[in-house]
Amino acid sequence: MTLSSDELDRYARHIVLREVGGPGQRRLGAARVLVVGAGGLGCPALLYLAAAGIGTLGVIDDDTVSLSNLQRQVLFATADVGRPKVAVAEEALRRLNPHVGVEAMEARLTETGAERLVAGWDLVLDGSDNFPTRYAVNAACVAAGRPLVAAAMSQWEGQLALWDPDRGGPCYACVFPEPPAAGLAPSCAEAGIVGALPGVMGSMMALEAIKHVAGAGEGLRGRLVIFDGLHGESRRIATRARGDCAVCGGRGAVR
Ligand SMILES: [Zn+2]
Repeated sequence: MTLSSDELDRYARHIVLREVGGPGQRRLGAARVLVVGAGGLGCPALLYLAAAGIGTLGVIDDDTVSLSNLQRQVLFATADVGRPKVAVAEEALRRLNPHVGVEAMEARLTETGAERLVAGWDLVLDGSDNFPTRYAVNAACVAAGRPLVAAAMSQWEGQLALWDPDRGGPCYACVFPEPPAAGLAPSCAEAGIVGALPGVMGSMMALEAIKHVAGAGEGLRGRLVIFDGLHGESRRIATRARGDCAVCGGRGAVR
């Protein structure tokens, strides 16, 4: 695949980067990346992935735009309230970059059929807002052997990791084998969330995805980044595969 003169101009700032260059930009253009959830995390992730020239972007979400989304879900405008998020997202992404294919799925990802869905993509980003979806995405990615960039957040703090046991390190369930007890992890609607935080975390998801696809730098395999927006601090903790993990069996453990 060669880049047209339009694309050479559009992606010029990537192409001059030593770690991306023409080969990395062509890898981005050949990639299929699925984003689960078009919410606070999914919106900025999708915007930056479309701007970066990912060849095909998938987005799956069953929700409609509500007024309280607009404080942080930057793909949507006031006039979109009541419309399906994936339909609005598809229009916005096509406006941003006509070179990108968009596959919009107005549905909720559940355990049923998730592995088959995920297997059609090279990389999955999970920006979902609930534990059943998060565990279903992880299990499907492990079963299909697909790397997963996942983030989660609450109030002022977010976390981010690349779960990729086939290429080393733990899966999500190795580190979080059980969802927290009811009430210990309140939703954004209950606990609140500062609007710019998903901008930071969703952009970091896109950054990890671009690095992974282009083959640049070092991915967050076996590491969890925690960003504390209230104090402007981030820290990184090492994570390990568990041999008794019910999802991946600890296959990514260093032997
Ligand atoms: Zn595991």
